[in-house]
This record gives sequence, C-alpha cells and structure tokens, in this order.
Amino acid sequence: MFNFLVLITLILRLAFVGAAPWGITHTNATAHTNSTTHSAEVDKRGIAGTIELTDIYGLVEMYVIPYCYANPTTRQQLGYGFEASIRQWMVALGSPASAQTQHAISVYETLDGQNQPVFCYSNYQSIEQPGTWNNGIWKLTLAIHYIQQWHALATLGFDPRQAPGGHHLYSGLVQGNTLRNAMISLTHQLTHELGHVFGLVHEHQRLDRDSQIHINWDKIAGYREAIAETQRRVPAMTMQQAHDRLPTSETFSRTMGSGAAVNYIIWPFNTPIGSYDFDSIMYYRSLSWARNMQACTPQNTQEYAITGISEAFIPARLSPSQGDAYSLRTMYPYSLRTGQ
Ligand SMILES: [Zn+2]
Repeated sequence: MFNFLVLITLILRLAFVGAAPWGITHTNATAHTNSTTHSAEVDKRGIAGTIELTDIYGLVEMYVIPYCYANPTTRQQLGYGFEASIRQWMVALGSPASAQTQHAISVYETLDGQNQPVFCYSNYQSIEQPGTWNNGIWKLTLAIHYIQQWHALATLGFDPRQAPGGHHLYSGLVQGNTLRNAMISLTHQLTHELGHVFGLVHEHQRLDRDSQIHINWDKIAGYREAIAETQRRVPAMTMQQAHDRLPTSETFSRTMGSGAAVNYIIWPFNTPIGSYDFDSIMYYRSLSWARNMQACTPQNTQEYAITGISEAFIPARLSPSQGDAYSLRTMYPYSLRTGQ
C-alpha cells in the first residue's frame, strides 16, 4: 500500500544489515533542552541508514533520516516549526546533499504512495499511551511528539537496537507575545533538538569547555537544593565533596535531584569537532537555568548560569552556526566509495 515507504524501508533495512557501519555500543542517551541523560555512549551520527546512491562520479553513501509525527494533531501543532528547523539546517549546510555542499544528510517525512504523511502510531493518546506503532514505518524512524508544556527533548544520535519509537523528539509550543514570536521560538527550539538527533551534544558540555567558559554552579536552579539533599542523604560527605561530585557525575547529580546541573556536566564521550564555537545553536545562553533570572543583567553577570571567559554574556543563538555545519559535514561526509 505504501509504495514509497516500503521502498525506503527496504532500502534502509538492506543498508542496515549489509553495511552496519555504526559501531554502536550503548543505549538510552537522551538530550534535552532542559535536561540531558548520557548514561552511555551512542554513535555520533543521527538516525541514518546509509543508502548507496550513484552519483555521476560513482557510489555515494547517503545518510537518510526519516521521521514521522505521532498523530495528525502533532503534525498540526509542530509540523510548521519542524519543517522550518530542517530548512534552518539545510541553509547552514547547503542543500541538497552533494559534492558541492560536502555533506550527505537528508531528512524525510514518511509518506505513503500518494505522498500523504504516514503517522507513527494508530490509536495515539499520549506519550505514555502512544497506541500501536505503525508497522509500515521503519522502527528506527524518529517519532515526533507534542507535549503540553514549554519544554523539548530529543534522543541523541542513533542506536540501531532501539524499539519502535525509541528515537524521539518531544516538544511543546513556546509561549510568546505574538504568534510570530512563538513560531520563531518554536523553530529555534526544534532546530536545537534536531541538532541532538543528528548527534550533536551541547557546546558547553565539550571536553575543552573549561578553557572558554565558566559554569556558575551555585547560580544554576536546583543546584543548592542538590547540595542540601546530598548532605541529608550522605552525611559523611563534606560540602566541598558534594560540590566536587555534583558537576562531574551524572548519576550522582540525578540522584540528588539536580536535573539542571546534569545539563552542564562535561560530556566525556564525544571528541569535539572543530574549534570551540560560541555561535553554536547547541549552546545554552547565559540566562538558561539561572536561579535568579530577574537579577541577570549586564551589570550583574555573577547571576548568570554560564559566563564566557573573554566576554561574559552568551546570547541565545537562533540558527545553526558555520561551526555546527562543519561538525555535521565531518560526521556525515559526502564521499565517493571508490575501489568497491
Ligand atoms: Zn539540548
């Protein structure tokens, strides 16, 4: 029935079984706008089955990232913003994937033979009760869900062992004074989350971040409470020991209820690509997660959650930077498979 879909699915499966180039090791890594889980390593690259296509010069490995919306309502709520976020990335990267644009990424909605969207689930009710996964859709397809709050999160990178719906992106609508503001903010939010789907981690969680920025732990919402919780649960631990442990151990930080601090822990798995990039869309701005946001002013930078070493204020970035595009070109190179 879904000719195109079946074709893509088949190609992806073939590419998957045949090539299996990922070297995946672990599962369950989720990156959020508001919290990050990285209990284990995943591949840097996003949800991509490699497809060999014939360019005029020879065989090329393409990385196709398929997505579906959970149900029609989700598509109505988030469709415009998500498509705009794909365009944002393609503007930064150059489109389409080619030898000229030097990347091999394409992102596609799952469609049926009549070019109509196919939704991830039937009988969808909520994230908790998603109903039945549509068997016509490749199980590793990115599933997009609408949530009721201003919040967003997405799985990081790609894991071929995920169950259906295991690769997902959740987003609510951003509050805004005007519809236009809300839409720009939604697009910005989804562009950031799509970066996680591609496999990008937060710029401020890079291994080399301490030479560029300062994390003001005590100014991050929930951090002091986590210190207090540590002292309640582990009386033998001094305050200094708690201060040393919370910013370095995700598990410990979560146990003590510091979901916010988890977003600022150095990510040990990914080797940074390119130089440190203050323009990355994968950044948090100075005010994100600030305990006392009202007090954050250019004259009062000590209230910021993050400050730059050379320039204190880190503003919000609304679109992918050239550095972000460079990272993706490195991760998803357009390269001819010669000699095969
Ligand atoms: Zn994020």
